[in-house]
Amino acid sequence: MKILVINCGSSSLKYQLINMEDESVIAKGLCERIGIEGSKLTHEPAGKDKVVIENAMPTHKTAIQMVMDALQNPEYGVIASTDEISAIGHRVLHGGKVYSDSIVVDEDVKRVIRECFDLGPLHNPANLMGIEACEAAMPGKPNVAVWDTGFGMAMPEKAYMYAIPHEYYEKYSIRRYGFHGTSHKFVSGEAIKFGGLDPKNAKVIVCHLGNGASVSASIGGKCVDTSMGLTPLEGLIMGTRSGDVDPAVVQFIANKEGKDVNEVLNILNKKSGVLGMSGGISSDFRDIENAKKEGNHLAEVALDAFIYRVAKYIGAYTAAMNGVDAIAFTAGVGENDKASRKAICEYLGYLGVKIDDEANDVRGKMRVISAADSKVKVMLIPTNEELAIARETKALI
Ligand code: ADP
Repeated sequence: MKILVINCGSSSLKYQLINMEDESVIAKGLCERIGIEGSKLTHEPAGKDKVVIENAMPTHKTAIQMVMDALQNPEYGVIASTDEISAIGHRVLHGGKVYSDSIVVDEDVKRVIRECFDLGPLHNPANLMGIEACEAAMPGKPNVAVWDTGFGMAMPEKAYMYAIPHEYYEKYSIRRYGFHGTSHKFVSGEAIKFGGLDPKNAKVIVCHLGNGASVSASIGGKCVDTSMGLTPLEGLIMGTRSGDVDPAVVQFIANKEGKDVNEVLNILNKKSGVLGMSGGISSDFRDIENAKKEGNHLAEVALDAFIYRVAKYIGAYTAAMNGVDAIAFTAGVGENDKASRKAICEYLGYLGVKIDDEANDVRGKMRVISAADSKVKVMLIPTNEELAIARETKALI
């Protein structure tokens, strides 16, 4: 069985064709600059050379068509016809209050994705376009929606309600949802298996530290709390997002700089985080680390603050669960940066966390990185959102 996984952004589309017999990737690729001049498709068939196809992609529909053509190309394709594809799994950002479990797309699912456009203004419209483009390109094939908010929907009311007038929850569904759900679910599940933990009761904290970053707490794989909120802006310091700030900061900047709320929110989303804190050096953590090594004070403060906030969330989530059995690091920084992992864990001595430096000297591999006498198991668990989406899709069809 072959499953196509589609992840549509506002101007991009990532895909993977996965062979579910052995969960291997048959081909993967990326369409960039959809709807913008200079669009291109980079297609990587397993075992063959990568190809770059430059072609106008005015819409996601054209992008999907180009992906289909690439997959079936006699030279660099990997399938003879789309008949070989059993189903398509889509990453969908927001299911609102209605959907949390993955589901085969029907008219009602599309209606909910549409109704959540204002909760996910950049992603939900693109996700729907991706689904409709697949329906047009492969009529009759099941499309499955896997919600980025799905994992966080299990949070109890005390964790997801904001302390604002209740009418806004009733009228506009304003609550904490959490994002990166596919990753948190996958990584917490793998951590339980790999760490040999009790699948029903294990208390696990997952630190998904990439350009976007979030922490989750779960018991037996069920989310107890997670750091992103109504939108992905809440929580940790990220590449360009501020994470938690006093909301009065928005009003203050707006008044001082003559900006409206939307403009200030744009600054908090796109010009803040380590990019903003470092005085504009970069949103890429490697650049920030290099600048710190060269003695740049702002870069040092940005990194220290990033690490400090992750450690604070781990402390808070340990309290929320009244304990923690395992802490798992994942995503770009979590999988590749041993110094950040070590620095975060140094705050956790009071929990009995001890890192084994030799074990921690690793990138992108599943491994226990804590010492044998550490009271909490610390692990590196590479995330694989595409595989998680493919597994969910397979389970449903
Ligand atoms: P996203 O999917 O949110 O775009 P990723 O999970 O791909 O993000 O993570 C990207 C981030 O990971 C970048 O900021 C990059 O600098 C960081 N990263 C990758 N490798 C390293 C490394 N060796 N040291 C520190 N940061 C790294």
